[in-house]
Amino acid sequence: MKLILIGIQGAGKSTQGNLLAKDFGVPYLSTGHIFRELAKEHTPLGRQIKVVMNAGLLISDSKTLKIVSEYLNRPEYEKGYILDGFPRTLIQAKAFKNGIDKVIYLEISDKEALWRIAGRNDGTREDETLVAIRNRIESFHKFTEPVLDFYRKKGKLVEVDGEKEIEEIHKAILKHLTVKK
Ligand code: AMP
Repeated sequence: MKLILIGIQGAGKSTQGNLLAKDFGVPYLSTGHIFRELAKEHTPLGRQIKVVMNAGLLISDSKTLKIVSEYLNRPEYEKGYILDGFPRTLIQAKAFKNGIDKVIYLEISDKEALWRIAGRNDGTREDETLVAIRNRIESFHKFTEPVLDFYRKKGKLVEVDGEKEIEEIHKAILKHLTVKK
């Protein structure tokens, strides 16, 4: 099973992603997590990623595609995966040809996203300043919404109300995936 999770920051992608990973026995992988780890490295690439991330901007498509494909070529992802945070631009989506089963869009309003991030923000994440969060929401509308259309046209998009309870959302997603489980 190869699934992609799309949603604004705070939509619950990692919560649902981890539940689905257990359901299907495949690993959960988040590009945000990969980039946060790379940003800790004292290398030119690490420093560059850190600056871009902390501003709430997107890492370039070429770098992202290279890093993600390196990860997905690892043997542990051969059977499938739950991928959170990629593709985030139309260029990434068009370049990514991995036989994805479904793309799950966890839909929440901008206002709800801001509430949730503010609520969980304990100051430990350098990339969660208000400006960075605003930039991330803006770039979701500008760059990631076209990705939703791209998969909608392919008949792969599953749209779920991300403002419901965790278990209700989980069930709603599974309903769309029963054939493959
Ligand atoms: P996330 O945890 O998914 O919100 O990702 C945190 C940050 O990592 C984003 O704000 C971007 O700077 C970077 N990032 C994650 N995934 C991508 C992607 N697919 N393309 C470009 N940048 C990304």
